Amino acid sequence: MAPRGSSHWSTRARLGGRLFCNGASRSIDPLFFGDAMLGLMMDYPLTLTTFLERARRFHGKKEIVSRTATGIHRYTYKDYVQRVDRLAGALKMLGVNQGDRVATFAWNSFRHFEIYFAVPCMGAVTHTVNARLYHDQLAYIFNHAGDRVVFVDASLLPVFEKIRPQLKTIQHVIVMADDGKPVDPKVGLDYEALLADAPAHFDYPVLDERTASGMCYTSGTTGHPKAVVYSHRAIVLHTLAAATTGLLGIEEGDTILSIVPMFHANAWGLPYTAMMVGAKMVWPGPFLQPADLAPLIEQERVTCIGGVPTIIGALYQYLKQAPGKHSMSSLRRVIVGGSACPPNLMMGFKNDFGVWITHAWGMTETTPLGSVCVLKSTFAGLPPEDQFRIRLTQGLPSPLVEARIMSEAGQELPWDGVAFGELQVRGPWVISAYFDDPRNAECFQDGWFRTGDVATIDGEGFIQLVDRTKDVVKSGGEWISSVELENAIMLHPDVQEAAVIGVYHPKWQERPLACVVPKEGATLTSAMILEFLKGKVATWWLPNDVVFIEGVPKTSVGKFDKKVLRERFKAHPWPEA
Ligand code: ADP
Repeated sequence: MAPRGSSHWSTRARLGGRLFCNGASRSIDPLFFGDAMLGLMMDYPLTLTTFLERARRFHGKKEIVSRTATGIHRYTYKDYVQRVDRLAGALKMLGVNQGDRVATFAWNSFRHFEIYFAVPCMGAVTHTVNARLYHDQLAYIFNHAGDRVVFVDASLLPVFEKIRPQLKTIQHVIVMADDGKPVDPKVGLDYEALLADAPAHFDYPVLDERTASGMCYTSGTTGHPKAVVYSHRAIVLHTLAAATTGLLGIEEGDTILSIVPMFHANAWGLPYTAMMVGAKMVWPGPFLQPADLAPLIEQERVTCIGGVPTIIGALYQYLKQAPGKHSMSSLRRVIVGGSACPPNLMMGFKNDFGVWITHAWGMTETTPLGSVCVLKSTFAGLPPEDQFRIRLTQGLPSPLVEARIMSEAGQELPWDGVAFGELQVRGPWVISAYFDDPRNAECFQDGWFRTGDVATIDGEGFIQLVDRTKDVVKSGGEWISSVELENAIMLHPDVQEAAVIGVYHPKWQERPLACVVPKEGATLTSAMILEFLKGKVATWWLPNDVVFIEGVPKTSVGKFDKKVLRERFKAHPWPEA
């Protein structure tokens, strides 16, 4: 922490990528560095505390609504900020210091939202832990992060108790219960009791904007999960960008329902964006079934939802099955990301509810908004089918984020919409190193972050993800996009979902195998799928076989888990050519 007014704060400037500080080098003219003139604006730290204070001053009347185990909980930002103050004080009383990691093991709720600000604004680090991970991954994550305190939802205690004996650094367990019953002291401290005993006022420290504010682990599809550490500065800049109409276009009048969990890449920044603009916030708790979400959207007049395609797709199917049961007339923005938005979901939302889905790409490592698809006004004259095709891309890099695509040989590829290579990005909310991880060297190239995604970029700058480097089918030295094949198959009216994997082939190294889930009651054959694909993809991309499965396995955040399918079908016998 640096006190405001120190030489560090008053004269620091970053020029040409180098840090200049005339506090350290007195011989430099305070206004000039070489030929460059120093701007004379305040070097005001970009910290989350400014958002908290803004909400306190300007948005006290706005509501925060949570679905809890005992019904709907409702209060205002005024109540919220007061409880955040108490929570920060309570943590201080427990001995939490700057830089300490404070974990959450919780669903989306008002208490989780309180932690989201109390912890970083007091100088500690909110570490959101994905409650759906395997037990050994969870134990690894808590220990690797060195968490001192953990907030646990009462409903998640049975899971937490299973891993608790393996946790080496936790000193305090704080239980968040909805039923008002006292928490067994042998299990942990009671969140509400802690707040009740804490002072009403808290003096927030002035933080360096580069102070860590949060921490989140990637899902760890291979090896241990990797730790991403966010700074206040990164989150503030990300929030400012997210609110703009070129990205998510979130404003004060919005009512946001974050279906995406708060432990998944900062709930895509929605909690911060809501706080900055003073939007009404709705938290679904653990109730993520369509039958729970639909009435919540209707009753709270939700305008903006965000979720992965599997969850938004399930919601859409549910609404379709009971037309008119729930009004979606308040919705104006549906943000879908985390995996590619299927064309039928995009079209369905437009046709049935009049909303174009906003398709976004991002990663835990990119805070997450790396790119968002918003059509340019210059596309207005394009035929509808071309506009639709563009909507399905991952869009333009976010402001301040730079993107490039690289060949396997390390050459930058042209932006022609055809050449595809590894997507690399850099920017103020892109990771510069994983926390305490030996794999750092392989994840960066000349100051760019290697995303592990394979993409094209077209002449307009629109990114289209073709695959992940580990999912792309390597056939005879050429790459086949498993995602493109899946999308083409999912256009079949009798297909519920489909995943394509590369399976060993003696001649071609790998060939595509389509794993298809038929819609209930539909009868499909391999020949029908292959016939349907003809003319939609290059002939040499056609899968060598189709298998029918009961469901595509999903990861902890609802994405297709292709490694399970790869394992299941690794010895799949190819039909005779
Ligand atoms: P992981 O899936 O590895 O647990 P993330 O949740 O951070 O971690 O997911 C990041 C990955 O999700 C990206 O690298 C990309 O492969 C995929 N992804 C995110 N958004 C999209 C999108 N709109 N379309 C396709 N893939 C996406």
